[in-house]
Amino acid sequence: MKIAIVGTGYVGLVTGTCLAEVGMDVTCIDIDTKKIENLKNGILPIYEPGLEEMVLRNTRQERLHFSDDIATSIQDADVAFIAVGTPPGEDGSADLKYVLAVARSIGKHMNNYMVVVTKSTVPVGTARKVRAAIEEEIILREEPLEFDVASNPEFLKEGAAIEDFLKPDRIVIGVESERAEDIMTKVYKPFLLNGHPIIFMDIPSAEMTKYAANSMLATKISFMNDIANLCEIMGADVNMVRKGIGSDARIGNKFIYPGIGYGGSCFPKDVKALIKTAAENGYEMQILKSVESVNENQKSVLFNKIQRHFEGDLTGKTFAIWGLSFKPKTDDMREAPSLVIIDKIIAAGGKVKAYDPVAMKEAQHLLGDKIEYAKDQYDALIDADALLVVTEWPEFRSPNFKVVARLMKDSIIFDGRNIYDIKEMEESGFTYYGIGVKPRY
Ligand code: NAD
Repeated sequence: MKIAIVGTGYVGLVTGTCLAEVGMDVTCIDIDTKKIENLKNGILPIYEPGLEEMVLRNTRQERLHFSDDIATSIQDADVAFIAVGTPPGEDGSADLKYVLAVARSIGKHMNNYMVVVTKSTVPVGTARKVRAAIEEEIILREEPLEFDVASNPEFLKEGAAIEDFLKPDRIVIGVESERAEDIMTKVYKPFLLNGHPIIFMDIPSAEMTKYAANSMLATKISFMNDIANLCEIMGADVNMVRKGIGSDARIGNKFIYPGIGYGGSCFPKDVKALIKTAAENGYEMQILKSVESVNENQKSVLFNKIQRHFEGDLTGKTFAIWGLSFKPKTDDMREAPSLVIIDKIIAAGGKVKAYDPVAMKEAQHLLGDKIEYAKDQYDALIDADALLVVTEWPEFRSPNFKVVARLMKDSIIFDGRNIYDIKEMEESGFTYYGIGVKPRY
């Protein structure tokens, strides 16, 4: 099988690399010439555990290629995946301009039958627009070219993307012809053989499945954050409540951790886009509107605790921040809660010295000299008035608290991810604030 992946970002690069890993001949295409040049030289644009080694190996074995020229690279492809970004437009709906631009390029340059698969997260009805864009170009060429469209939403999690792609809970594929279904079955055959199910469905259902999945996950997070805030008011410990409800199989123990709000490039934009799609079609997504507003409030929860502790005066105070990426094991800072917290601290007259195991470069790109960058997690603590745990990287879980206390000006921790135990922290002499747990002072 010859595969073209158009858009070589988090999804495109992981998809291309993993399909090469199971034996396909893959070309990853991007309009970002520098990104492609770097990839050809073995330099990756993103951090994802295990990805670099896999890219290098598959490139060496000549199953994985990179190109900035869609015209030549999609020639003879059996399948073209569209994996470009679908950022929120001004009104919250998914902006399809990159997806449709790629569809037009495919129509312009394809030379044989192929299945054009949308992997980007797109609203119901997009496949129809993709089909129309390709058809328009083919008509201009006056050549008898045939193609099918399909929808294959991606469910990988940044930080565990390779594992998720190679061992998916399920592969969802929307098709409208048997020919496309056969070809997509061939593409994913190695995964099927390993017992990972493919769920074939119609295209609108596949498109909707992705939004429903992300919206459900965002709902779990906002629900738990709401419960955490109430726990704190009522003197209950949300960590206990979480264990109590998570042991019920109908609820499950995953994705019910309270924190400082969801971020990243997917949940915020996908929840917004689904609310917008519904509104455009005369329906109000009442639950999702609340999910969004709880999340907005939650991004301020840690800062509000800081304000209260310092009685509203952060002038001249230095805050050590552990973790900048929106979640562990990625360098992605799109919509990261750290950005909101940093802005608020700086606006209130405080200073920030931050450390993240892999997102320092990305942070420098986004924040410039707004903050100070630490060499390591302990360096960030020197003379800090308080420590803020913003991303739950494994290396932050069991630090040497004696060293932590010695380096800091004052032993205060604001733990936005509940990675420490309130009782232990208080017994070790720290002033500790978690989420949904009431400090004993
Ligand atoms: P990204 O921003 O990391 O990558 C998109 C890439 O597309 C960029 O490299 C960009 O240069 C390239 N591009 C844009 N226009 C192009 C064109 N005309 N031709 C060729 N390349 C072009 O985006 P991402 O995070 O990989 O997300 C891609 C899509 O997948 C989005 O719709 C997103 O919602 C969805 N998704 C993302 C994740 C995730 O965890 N990041 C998970 C599931 C689904």
